[in-house]
Amino acid sequence: MITTDFTDKVAFITGAGVGIGRATALAFAEAGADVALVSIDEDDLNETARLVPDTGRRAHPIVADVSDASAVQAAVSSTADEFGRIDFAVNNAGIEQPPTPLDETGQDDWNRLIAVNLTGVFLAMKHEIPAMRESGGGAIVNLSSGAGVVGISGQAAYAATKHGVIGMTKSAALEVAAEGIRINAICPGIIETPMMGRFSGGTPEGRARVIAQEPVGRMGRPEEIASAALWLCSDLGGFAVSHALVVDGGQTVGIS
Ligand code: NAP
Repeated sequence: MITTDFTDKVAFITGAGVGIGRATALAFAEAGADVALVSIDEDDLNETARLVPDTGRRAHPIVADVSDASAVQAAVSSTADEFGRIDFAVNNAGIEQPPTPLDETGQDDWNRLIAVNLTGVFLAMKHEIPAMRESGGGAIVNLSSGAGVVGISGQAAYAATKHGVIGMTKSAALEVAAEGIRINAICPGIIETPMMGRFSGGTPEGRARVIAQEPVGRMGRPEEIASAALWLCSDLGGFAVSHALVVDGGQTVGIS
């Protein structure tokens, strides 16, 4: 039977402190999974972990920087130790770029964007894949962006990382598809999260400016990205492999 029942499954979610990551962690827990929560900020992480028991599932919070190879390896291995398996991973941790032309982008800013948004996904998949093999298969979802499928002025560095996530997703997915591990990506549009609050400045004018990019006339909710991750990991998305799923209110489709 086709189902989104994740009872007795385990999900590993990075950037789970706030925003899309927190909504995804709660959605997977509501579907029945125990959840490993990874983030760089302990207070935010603890707040997500505090909300999980309302779903009846267990949370395993892990403070780690996804750009730190040994921390990511330790996070995956502590999840397998805690819960005995890993079935799903949502590699969501990411940072934004304040609007900056490429020729004014500092190399330190470039390096940090690459380290978190691209190396962070590489390191996570590097350790999640063997753990999923041990569990007999699984599904991975990587967070790309609308900036992963179109160019955006002032976002060259961020867009490079998000285009890179899609290339990495598509290639790694082909390597493990025959082993029952499905890897896909999601490309969100403008989603109402702390990141988008920083990007828009949080002012009425800033909010109106980003909403103007959305044909639907509103920002997306973090839960609307969480539900896409749930679909891709569940049996409902069982034939989806190597796909970059655009969930963006029409933002990147064309001129409206
Ligand atoms: P967010 O509100 O900034 O939340 C990101 C989470 O990741 C936070 O919990 C943050 O920790 C954590 N994090 C940041 N750097 C980390 C690191 N080095 N290691 C571990 N955790 C780290 O972001 P969001 O809007 O939910 O975005 C989530 C993902 O979706 C990102 O990859 C983003 O690029 C992508 N995305 C977002 C949008 C959007 O409109 N919001 C659109 C397209 C794509 P703190 O608690 O310390 O902040």
